[in-house]
Amino acid sequence: MTTGHPCCKECGNRITALRRSKAFCSPQCRQTFNNRRMARGAELYDLFRALRRERSEAKALNLWTQICRLEKTWQDQDEAKRPGRRSYTAPRKALANLVDKGSIPRGETLVRSYFTGRSGGR
Ligand SMILES: [Zn+2]
Repeated sequence: MTTGHPCCKECGNRITALRRSKAFCSPQCRQTFNNRRMARGAELYDLFRALRRERSEAKALNLWTQICRLEKTWQDQDEAKRPGRRSYTAPRKALANLVDKGSIPRGETLVRSYFTGRSGGR
Protein backbone atom coordinates (compact mmCIF):
# COMPACT_ATOMS: atom_id res chain seq x y z
CA MET A 1 0.00 0.00 0.00
CA THR A 2 1.46 3.36 -0.93
CA THR A 3 -0.95 5.78 0.69
CA GLY A 4 1.32 6.61 3.60
CA HIS A 5 -1.48 5.81 6.03
CA PRO A 6 -0.87 2.92 8.42
CA CYS A 7 -3.35 0.03 8.60
CA CYS A 8 -5.33 -0.85 11.71
CA LYS A 9 -3.79 -3.87 13.50
CA GLU A 10 -7.28 -5.27 14.06
CA CYS A 11 -9.43 -4.66 10.99
CA GLY A 12 -6.81 -3.70 8.41
CA ASN A 13 -8.57 -0.50 7.37
CA ARG A 14 -6.42 2.48 6.61
CA ILE A 15 -6.05 4.88 9.52
CA THR A 16 -6.86 8.27 8.13
CA ALA A 17 -7.74 10.21 11.25
CA LEU A 18 -4.91 11.66 13.24
CA ARG A 19 -4.77 9.18 16.09
CA ARG A 20 -2.41 9.18 19.01
CA SER A 21 -1.10 5.65 18.51
CA LYS A 22 -1.65 5.04 14.77
CA ALA A 23 -2.00 1.32 15.48
CA PHE A 24 -5.80 1.14 15.46
CA CYS A 25 -8.54 2.90 13.53
CA SER A 26 -10.90 3.12 16.50
CA PRO A 27 -11.17 2.50 20.24
CA GLN A 28 -13.33 -0.55 19.42
CA CYS A 29 -10.56 -2.12 17.32
CA ARG A 30 -8.01 -1.41 20.04
CA GLN A 31 -10.26 -3.02 22.64
CA THR A 32 -10.98 -6.08 20.50
CA PHE A 33 -7.28 -6.59 19.82
CA ASN A 34 -6.26 -6.11 23.45
CA ASN A 35 -9.07 -8.29 24.85
CA ARG A 36 -7.99 -11.17 22.60
CA ARG A 37 -4.38 -10.63 23.70
CA MET A 38 -5.36 -10.72 27.37
CA ALA A 39 -7.48 -13.86 26.99
CA ARG A 40 -4.64 -15.66 25.22
CA GLY A 41 -2.16 -14.49 27.83
CA ALA A 42 -4.34 -15.94 30.57
CA GLU A 43 -4.40 -19.29 28.75
CA LEU A 44 -0.63 -19.27 28.41
CA TYR A 45 0.14 -18.13 31.95
CA ASP A 46 -0.74 -21.33 33.80
CA LEU A 47 0.85 -23.60 31.20
CA PHE A 48 4.08 -21.62 31.22
CA ARG A 49 4.30 -21.37 35.01
CA ALA A 50 3.66 -25.11 35.35
CA LEU A 51 6.30 -25.79 32.70
CA ARG A 52 8.90 -23.80 34.62
CA ARG A 53 8.00 -24.93 38.15
CA GLU A 54 7.11 -28.61 37.75
CA ARG A 55 9.40 -29.69 34.96
CA SER A 56 9.14 -33.45 35.35
CA GLU A 57 5.38 -33.59 35.11
CA ALA A 58 5.36 -30.86 32.48
CA LYS A 59 7.74 -32.90 30.37
CA ALA A 60 5.68 -36.06 30.84
CA LEU A 61 2.62 -34.13 29.66
CA ASN A 62 4.47 -32.50 26.74
CA LEU A 63 3.49 -29.04 27.95
CA TRP A 64 5.95 -27.27 25.66
CA THR A 65 4.42 -29.04 22.68
CA GLN A 66 0.97 -28.05 23.90
CA ILE A 67 2.06 -24.43 24.26
CA CYS A 68 3.37 -24.47 20.69
CA ARG A 69 0.12 -26.01 19.45
CA LEU A 70 -1.83 -23.30 21.25
CA GLU A 71 0.26 -20.63 19.53
CA LYS A 72 -0.30 -22.33 16.17
CA THR A 73 -4.05 -22.23 16.78
CA TRP A 74 -3.81 -18.51 17.50
CA GLN A 75 -1.72 -17.92 14.36
CA ASP A 76 -4.24 -19.83 12.24
CA GLN A 77 -7.13 -17.84 13.73
CA ASP A 78 -5.32 -14.57 13.12
CA GLU A 79 -4.41 -15.46 9.56
CA ALA A 80 -8.04 -16.41 8.83
CA LYS A 81 -9.47 -13.18 10.26
CA ARG A 82 -6.62 -10.75 9.63
CA PRO A 83 -4.55 -12.13 6.75
CA GLY A 84 -1.17 -10.62 6.10
CA ARG A 85 -1.02 -8.57 9.27
CA ARG A 86 1.29 -9.32 12.18
CA SER A 87 -0.81 -10.17 15.23
CA TYR A 88 2.02 -10.30 17.74
CA THR A 89 4.77 -7.95 18.84
CA ALA A 90 8.17 -8.34 17.16
CA PRO A 91 10.88 -9.85 19.44
CA ARG A 92 12.95 -6.69 20.00
CA LYS A 93 9.86 -4.59 20.63
CA ALA A 94 8.36 -7.18 22.99
CA LEU A 95 11.58 -7.27 25.00
CA ALA A 96 11.89 -3.49 25.02
CA ASN A 97 8.31 -3.19 26.26
CA LEU A 98 9.13 -5.40 29.26
CA VAL A 99 12.29 -3.42 30.00
CA ASP A 100 10.38 -0.16 29.78
CA LYS A 101 7.77 -1.51 32.22
CA GLY A 102 10.50 -2.62 34.61
CA SER A 103 9.51 -6.31 34.37
CA ILE A 104 13.03 -7.22 33.19
CA PRO A 105 16.01 -5.41 34.72
CA ARG A 106 17.97 -3.25 32.29
CA GLY A 107 21.25 -4.91 33.29
CA GLU A 108 20.34 -8.36 31.96
CA THR A 109 22.53 -9.69 29.14
CA LEU A 110 19.71 -10.19 26.67
CA VAL A 111 18.45 -6.70 27.28
CA ARG A 112 21.90 -5.18 26.90
CA SER A 113 22.26 -6.92 23.55
CA TYR A 114 19.02 -5.25 22.49
CA PHE A 115 20.35 -1.81 23.25
CA THR A 116 23.77 -2.42 21.68
CA GLY A 117 22.45 -4.32 18.69
CA ARG A 118 24.83 -7.23 19.37
CA SER A 119 23.75 -10.79 20.00
CA GLY A 120 23.88 -11.41 23.72
CA GLY A 121 25.53 -13.84 26.06
CA ARG A 122 29.13 -14.03 24.78
ZN1 LIG B 1 -9.76 -1.06 12.86
